[in-house]
Amino acid sequence: MLRSIALTAPAASHLVTNRRGEYAILNQDDHLLWRDGAMPGSHPRYDDLLALGFIERPGRGGQALEAAAERTRQAFLLDGPALHIFVVTLRCDHACGYCQVSRAAEGATGFDMSWEDALAAIDRVFEAPAQALTVEFQGGEPALRFDLVECIVLEVERRNADQSRGIRFSLVSTLHHLDEAALEFCRDHQIHISTSIDGPALLHDRQRPNPTRDSFTRTVESLARARAIVGHDGVVAMPTLTRAALDDPRAVIDTYRELGFGSIFLRPISPYGFALKTRRAIGYPMEAFVRFYAQALDYLLALNRAGEPMVETYAAILLRHIFTPFGSGYVDLRSPAGAGLGVLVYNYDGQVYPADEARMAAQTGDGRFALGSVHDRFEDLMASPAMRWLATGAVAEDLPGCGDCAFVPFCGADPVYHAAAHGDPVGDRATSDFCTKHMGLFQILFGHIARSDAQDMRTFTAWAFGRGRDEVIDAGYVPQ
Ligand code: SF4
Repeated sequence: MLRSIALTAPAASHLVTNRRGEYAILNQDDHLLWRDGAMPGSHPRYDDLLALGFIERPGRGGQALEAAAERTRQAFLLDGPALHIFVVTLRCDHACGYCQVSRAAEGATGFDMSWEDALAAIDRVFEAPAQALTVEFQGGEPALRFDLVECIVLEVERRNADQSRGIRFSLVSTLHHLDEAALEFCRDHQIHISTSIDGPALLHDRQRPNPTRDSFTRTVESLARARAIVGHDGVVAMPTLTRAALDDPRAVIDTYRELGFGSIFLRPISPYGFALKTRRAIGYPMEAFVRFYAQALDYLLALNRAGEPMVETYAAILLRHIFTPFGSGYVDLRSPAGAGLGVLVYNYDGQVYPADEARMAAQTGDGRFALGSVHDRFEDLMASPAMRWLATGAVAEDLPGCGDCAFVPFCGADPVYHAAAHGDPVGDRATSDFCTKHMGLFQILFGHIARSDAQDMRTFTAWAFGRGRDEVIDAGYVPQ
């Protein structure tokens, strides 16, 4: 199937894509010739379009190539859930406005995972067929139950001794409660740490209030302490972008540069987890995020041109989808969707959810997402009514609006978002923030690709392949 869309910039340019995941950018005249099947064999773009599968010629094995490309793109399906998130506690000492429903007060009782539930969740982890597994600890603030994190890590390692899976651990933490012993445990067991820094001190402290009103200072101090033990690259950070952050993309990015980070993951505020009143204060239309993103990307590309290799992580994921036939491993943007098929969340209360967002929706009283209990068998969780319901919106290519969208080979489906926001997993692309975001971001990225500035394409290639700019031999080519 061939799909086409007019790019917003440069003017009169069109993107065409096909099921192989190939793309071509055509000017107005060439697009008309191609669309009408009237492009002569002598045309300068003819051979290019033929090789990419945009011009059919009998006997060239087009269907076999499409099938091979889809097998490569969807190889993750054979693995089942590879990301297993343990919410070891819902307690946290921060009171972030965008996280009201997925936290409990630091001293509250009844919000920690029991050891019995943790052991059952570990059983589920090893029932998943994936050879490479990620076990992630979230909260609340998981460092408040670091004793439980340690026990789970040791038990996973013990059970893996005769399974030999590739296990990766990660911990999402404010860092404040990780003492030297905890950080040494992270170093010794290769636990990757991820933290939140929302921008400059004033903004961060306003958005992430802690009891002593010094969250930014403590985060920076804790970051230095953590890096001294787990190494500079052992901690990554990402901002949650509220309305206040959108005014000044440079301020957010410069905070990350000043703190020595080589990447930043720009993501809009999640629609889950906070009350309507707060949403009015800190939320924004997705179009505002897309405008922010365009400015932020321009700044990051300028930094890279000047020799500072700062990566925007979400662009790197999208560019990997655009430039390569291989999955990015990112469970929140793929088709079939990652919900349940790529990730399982074991909540503090023993309930299992297909995504962290599903857990948050459940905290607001939407009980449709629970797959079952950690004590249910993996097969039963995967065959649960909730999974069957979410499956109706899990394949992007089959969704109304996505099926004929030229961006669909690089995009994904998000049945959890659409069920929470629109009432059912299929949703409505015309009013979908998920779609507005991805339409906007793909337009921005393909606009840059169409302009083909050699320096920016070198940056894009480096980001897509996870390599340094100096390793890119030519735009689009890095040595293996
Ligand atoms: S979500 Fe939007 S951008 Fe993505 S494939 Fe569907 S219609 Fe296209």
